[in-house]
Amino acid sequence: MKEIDQRSLRGGDDTLAVRAGTRRSEFREHSEGLFLSSSFMYASAEEAAACFAGTEPAYIYSRFSNPTVQMFEDKLAALEGAERCVATSSGMAAIMATLQSFLKAGDEIVSSRSVFGTTNVMFNKYMSKFGVSTRWVDIADLQAWKAAMSPATRLLFVETPSNPLCEIADLQALAELAHQQGALLVVDNCFCTPILQKPLQWGADLIIHSATKYLDGQGRVLGGAVLGAQSLLEEVYGCLRTCGASMSAFNAWVFLKGMETLGLRMRAHCAGALQLAQWLEEQPAVSRVHYAGLPSHPQHALAARQQSGFGGIIGLDLKGGQAAAWRFINATRLFSITGNLGDTRSTITHPATTTHGRLSAEDKAAAGITAGLVRLSIGLEDVADLQADLAAGLAAAFAG
Ligand SMILES: *Cc1c(COP(=O)(O)O)cnc(C)c1O
Repeated sequence: MKEIDQRSLRGGDDTLAVRAGTRRSEFREHSEGLFLSSSFMYASAEEAAACFAGTEPAYIYSRFSNPTVQMFEDKLAALEGAERCVATSSGMAAIMATLQSFLKAGDEIVSSRSVFGTTNVMFNKYMSKFGVSTRWVDIADLQAWKAAMSPATRLLFVETPSNPLCEIADLQALAELAHQQGALLVVDNCFCTPILQKPLQWGADLIIHSATKYLDGQGRVLGGAVLGAQSLLEEVYGCLRTCGASMSAFNAWVFLKGMETLGLRMRAHCAGALQLAQWLEEQPAVSRVHYAGLPSHPQHALAARQQSGFGGIIGLDLKGGQAAAWRFINATRLFSITGNLGDTRSTITHPATTTHGRLSAEDKAAAGITAGLVRLSIGLEDVADLQADLAAGLAAAFAG
């Protein structure tokens, strides 16, 4: 059988997205097999002992080793240029496993303020119970990051571009800051995916993914991943196999197919979002468009240097606050009202009352989650149809 040698496989991101990570069974399946089995067998008691001791590589039990999940891990690791990837049951599980692996009571996190709403709640409500505290800073204010760090700071956490305001962190500068005192820089790379941004190249130590978003890209299943150097990922792997938030083989199999078109989809998401952001900026009912691809974005130059595209998420502030935002959301027809993003289908969200609804009023204000803020995730429908839908929504929201 002609077989690609995975160890020597090189190429551009599209080649890796389609070809990296594939393993085949004795049946010579062309597309990856779905291995739904909770455990795996051994030829002898001797072999079982060797596999459990780790002296012989083998699949043991699907909480921590499964062929389909491993193919997902190897494909994503190839795309991020990471030594190793560990898959998790969701993006939040990836963040939790990372914190559990590297922090202990008394340690501190410094995090950018505008992170995924649930990440904020995890840090403030749950990590604090275990004696890990978080200081929140403005993502783009390097002096604030510096000032927030103390000798107890073990981890810097950032999501760039941020959700939903598309603010950009300078990853190289943050990596230097973290490493000055041996702390880890953890980057949630969900919005860019490795197609648009490779945080390890800028010095980040660990990458978080919610595979639920663009990696699947079709809104079907939940999953997540942590990536980085082998030495760090061995810790995450140990934590995950013990604590149990592992990825299901079925979900990994769904992601494998989704990821084959990741490059194609990301380029189309970027093109559509840029065109719509430019158009939205000209609409009188819109007071501000948050999209790093616009020259008016305060960090446009940084985004252009650090990313190879500006992504598919647009934040827009509507004049008229929550009432106008809700009228606008209700009047669009093509845009699905849902919290998910990174889907082939365009979605529309009111962060202040949904994804970020659990934040306190002060946290919302500090994170820039205003009542008139609407988040769009631009899908793969015709851009002209999306623009017409947004135009009709604005007209309805501001009629009279
Ligand atoms: C959705 C999301 C998460 C959480 O991922 P789940 O798969 O929903 O657990 C984390 N970070 C970002 C930026 C997200 O958009």
